[in-house]
Amino acid sequence: MSNISQITPIANQILKKYDLCDHCLGRFFSKQLHLSSNKFLGKKLKIDYISKNKCYICKNLFNNLDNFLKLMLDSSSNYIFKTYGVGTIIKPSIVDRDDLLRSKYKLKGVDSVKTDITKELIKLFTKKTRKIVDSLDPEITFTLNLKDESCKLRSKSITISGRYVKSKRGIPQKQKSCDNCFGKGCRICNFHGISEFESVEGIISKLLFKKFGGTTTKFSWIGGEDNSSLVLGAGRPFFVKIKNPSKRKSILSDTKFDFISLYNLKIVDASPKKPLNFNSIIKIKILTTSQIDSKNLKILKDLRTVPIVIYEKSGKRYERKIFDVKYKKNSKNVFTLTIIAEGGLPIRRFIVGEGVLPNISTLFNTPCVAQEFDFLDIVVE
Ligand SMILES: [Zn+2]
Ligand SMILES: [Zn+2]
Repeated sequence: MSNISQITPIANQILKKYDLCDHCLGRFFSKQLHLSSNKFLGKKLKIDYISKNKCYICKNLFNNLDNFLKLMLDSSSNYIFKTYGVGTIIKPSIVDRDDLLRSKYKLKGVDSVKTDITKELIKLFTKKTRKIVDSLDPEITFTLNLKDESCKLRSKSITISGRYVKSKRGIPQKQKSCDNCFGKGCRICNFHGISEFESVEGIISKLLFKKFGGTTTKFSWIGGEDNSSLVLGAGRPFFVKIKNPSKRKSILSDTKFDFISLYNLKIVDASPKKPLNFNSIIKIKILTTSQIDSKNLKILKDLRTVPIVIYEKSGKRYERKIFDVKYKKNSKNVFTLTIIAEGGLPIRRFIVGEGVLPNISTLFNTPCVAQEFDFLDIVVE
């Protein structure tokens, strides 16, 4: 344990060669004296000393901290948050001079100038705003560039889960990206990456942008459907990540739009890391080329006993199970098939017979197509 009388000669020795500000001088000794204010200690050590030049190390950067505080306050004024973190970028020459002095005078266990500036900014910001600093997982991260006096703010994304019901045909699940930026976000699309909001994705995004602010949304769908498909029952589950939200809380309630209804909306920790297993109850209206004898429809029951193998063009092969089969003949060339199937069975290809075995067309030995198919329910395991 040192005391101030042991330190004063070293401090004087440094000051003889290098003009230092209170912060930088105090920083070199505050830890060994167990003092929390570098500035206060520096002032004390410089009591008989008048600085003639700018601080050799920081060029009086510490005098400018109020400016940087203002940058932080301005950039975060539209955000609602509790915790924050700060990163700083400073000129390498400042770091070099700091390193030089610390090694020259063998000053060990001392905060670097960069650490100290960051600590000071945190002190100022917390004092002003009462926000809590969290260096591990903050809601808002400031990156202050002290070289060009700019401040960037990043807000941690939030994830919402929910379900949607689609009660009208012709609404796409996914939204086309903005033509100008291909989804990255640009001035034209208000940094949303999409400029129209008429799909399921667009309608949900628009609601969430209104509630949470944010730039882009990223969806993880639990399965997909055709534009012409209805999604009924409890609806299709989805997860959506909102990037750069300005609000982290909002009242979420079931919401009905014209043909899309949203249920069970809630904030969750994250989208699932692995794809979720789910089963779908699907009603498919099938058009056959040749007439089908009602008696032959019975063979459809066999689909429950064999895996459906899907061959992708990429060479990938995977299997899906069908757990239950119901059918009804509607007319000579039309029948309705209702199945409970493992999620991810490509319905149109299963009917036409494109890279799927067994399939409906080979089963009846006549080309078949799915006129439309609807999801009666989706059950997550
Ligand atoms: Zn300094
Ligand atoms: Zn754009």
